[in-house]
Amino acid sequence: MKTLKIAIQKSGRLNEKSVELLEHCGLTFENYKSSLISPVSNFPLEILFLRDDDIPEYVQDGIADLGIVGENVINETEAEVSYLQKLGFGKCSLKIAVPNNNSIQELSHLNGKAIATTYPVILGKFLKENNIKADIRTISGSVEISPGLGLSDAICDLVSTGGTLKSNGLVAFSHVMSSEAVLIGTKGSENSELVKELIQRVQSVLRAKETKYVVLNVNKDNLPAIIKLLPGVKSPSVVPLAEANWVAVHTVIPEHDFWGKISQLKQAGAEGIVVMPIEKIIL
Ligand code: ATP
Ligand code: ZN
Repeated sequence: MKTLKIAIQKSGRLNEKSVELLEHCGLTFENYKSSLISPVSNFPLEILFLRDDDIPEYVQDGIADLGIVGENVINETEAEVSYLQKLGFGKCSLKIAVPNNNSIQELSHLNGKAIATTYPVILGKFLKENNIKADIRTISGSVEISPGLGLSDAICDLVSTGGTLKSNGLVAFSHVMSSEAVLIGTKGSENSELVKELIQRVQSVLRAKETKYVVLNVNKDNLPAIIKLLPGVKSPSVVPLAEANWVAVHTVIPEHDFWGKISQLKQAGAEGIVVMPIEKIIL
């Protein structure tokens, strides 16, 4: 059977979460910082540790069958790859920012200005779509200091919390794109049985992360009201308790709705609520 290759970032913001995701998929491998390639002992897969910028092209060219990388890097390299699954981490936005108290307050004010970025392709398309003619200055890093050095009037850079912008006296005023880490594959790789198996494992890990396992106790009189609050669940398990007229309800609750749902359940008579993480949900 053919051994697949998956490329992940060697070090940086996506490395740890990528390794963790693969481990949660039940894959066993050595994660030495020095190695460039690491075989998985219990699945026909090898892990390639690369700079994130190289991943889309490696996958496009089939040197790696799969890759985990930010959408920003895929768009910038314009690699032709299949998007297999959004992964929910590495979330950030590419934004245009200017120094505080700057006269640039809307896109049209960027006409004739210099914008420093490490994303010339994405920025170029964005400016074209908005009919802005600006001078794109491509630099390889530390974009945020370029206005202070007089190298540019504005920057286009990745932002997550905005802390870096703030500490450099910059303020974001235009959103170019949102990004998160995605699983990509060489075009056509999605038809391989091994790739399908891996995608299923990834999805079962992601589903588990989105939900919590909840056990609660309730007096039988309040049981109908509790079950009504759990519409997403076909039939929650109801287990009798030693105390007469009391039952335990076992169910799963989506993370996004979690605290709201818990307070509704309490109001409806739920007691002794125990919440547990779920490792995998296999459909
Ligand atoms: P490499 O050495 O692999 O080239 P890098 O320095 O280009 O790494 P990192 O800073 O590690 O890249 O970021 C990797 C990816 O993490 C980004 O391309 C982006 O998708 C994502 N990311 C999430 N939040 C942020 C953020 N606040 N700033 C930069 N990147 C972020
Ligand atoms: Zn990079």
